[in-house]
Amino acid sequence: MKPVVLSGFMGTGKSTAGPRIAARLGVPFVDTDAEIERAAGERIADLWRRDGEAAFRAREAALIGELLASGVPRVVAVGGGALVAPGLRRRAIDAALVVTLSASPEALLARMPDLATRPNLAGPDPLARAKELLALRAPAYAECHLSLATDATDANGLADAVARAVARDPLLVPLGERSYTIDVCVDEPARLTEAVRRCAASSLVVVTDANVKAARGAAIAGAIERVGLPWREVVLEPGERNKTLDAVSAVWDAALDARVDRNALVVAAGGGVVGDLAGFAAACLLRGIRFVQAPTTLLSMVDSSVGGKTGFDHRTGKNLIGAFHQPSAVVADLAHLSTLSARERAAGLAEVVKIALATDEKLLSQVEAHAPALARGDVEALRPIVRAAIDAKIRIVRDDERESGPRALLNLGHTIGHALEGHGGFDRWLHGEAVALGTVIEMRATAAMGFTPPDLVERSAALLAALGLPSSVAAAEVQAAWPFVGSDKKRGGSTLALPIVTRAGESHVKRVPLTALRDAVFAGV
Ligand code: NAD
Repeated sequence: MKPVVLSGFMGTGKSTAGPRIAARLGVPFVDTDAEIERAAGERIADLWRRDGEAAFRAREAALIGELLASGVPRVVAVGGGALVAPGLRRRAIDAALVVTLSASPEALLARMPDLATRPNLAGPDPLARAKELLALRAPAYAECHLSLATDATDANGLADAVARAVARDPLLVPLGERSYTIDVCVDEPARLTEAVRRCAASSLVVVTDANVKAARGAAIAGAIERVGLPWREVVLEPGERNKTLDAVSAVWDAALDARVDRNALVVAAGGGVVGDLAGFAAACLLRGIRFVQAPTTLLSMVDSSVGGKTGFDHRTGKNLIGAFHQPSAVVADLAHLSTLSARERAAGLAEVVKIALATDEKLLSQVEAHAPALARGDVEALRPIVRAAIDAKIRIVRDDERESGPRALLNLGHTIGHALEGHGGFDRWLHGEAVALGTVIEMRATAAMGFTPPDLVERSAALLAALGLPSSVAAAEVQAAWPFVGSDKKRGGSTLALPIVTRAGESHVKRVPLTALRDAVFAGV
């Protein structure tokens, strides 16, 4: 078990609930405020008055850093301002399960009779000061694996909730108040039920496609039914060809005919096409309602359900109209993969190889080591790879939600990939297959430009082939597809932002003249 870090404003009950939670988990409890007082032989209010807030924060950060680095399973209650510092918060999120406790400002003050010992609330109007601090800290407190209101739940209830979260061990996409968790599980439909319940919505609009409904409809409907809310289903035509405005309209029509309100929730149950369409529909409905992703393809689990890119295709190119709209939760249940074709499964692995090549050497080696089992669809082999690939994507998205910088690395293979897809009328290649081809072609071109080691290109092509993916295509097809590069979103005038892999797991984005890229691509195919 990872350590559990209890965060939240002073007075939320961390030191009362903490020992109960620790006892429930069978691990020790540490209160960092108490530890600091014990080590200093002084009360925090006195330390704060004498040395100032900065010195106290440094002492606190050093202690929390040590506790996290040791990795010992325990429950650690930290001071209310400790995880407001972004660096320490990031370390806590990476190393522990972060739980934020909350309560109304009035309830908080009622629990703090001795305000003199709370230097941060000093002043004539402690309630106003508490409200001000809560508003300032809200984005930091929202970056947690679990949020619990302590005015509504007793210590036993809190301990149960934390124990359930420890068993789930969700990943977290930390994006301030747009943060959300991702569950990776195998055949646990209750995870979707719980994720939807946590949203406390008024009604549900479940979007899926005809293939998913036939293959996984019963499991999905069962999970949704158990939420206990009114729900309506929209079944779209499957496939990239149907990633259109008409499909988005069908979701809008169904939702508005059902008179949904702004607290309604869209659930996207399907592959990347359903997820992108349903997410975009939710982004615009009543100027934006929430949505949950229940990805059912490997590609949508490791890539499209994470990061909030939504949209649809235009006849001039893929994904040209869309919006950033983060989901409220993602539940990737690998049981859905049992009905996915080997070809679709391989297409998902292409996105895993892409992110590994661009950002994560360890993941690349893991995929190489388990390639035959992954190609076979062995769930035990897939599970850690799916989790690691999602984690790699989170590390990019959390620093660049709107793709103004490093997120563009994830477009590796997509410049040529999208062109091949568009030229093939979205029938010839699956998205992941086109990305596999694009990755090899782009890396070969950047190798010719002197940026990418040639042996890495061959290593990547061999891995993609071992995973059952195409890794070469006729030169004539690439030449015929080239005009589609012109409508790429990454183009700006006569140059294009191209991800360049410089060694396994390392890459950067470089603006490259279109003509130079074309010459290098045509020379390499
Ligand atoms: P998809 O949604 O078309 O699904 C592939 C096929 O598998 C479809 O025919 C679908 O009906 C079927 N299917 C889905 N789940 C199934 C299951 N469990 N059992 C049997 N059949 C099943 O395609 P995809 O590969 O999941 O996603 C590709 C799309 O994702 C593209 O449109 C691409 O642009 C988009 N994408 C988006 C992002 C993003 O960040 N938003 C990232 C990568 C890709």
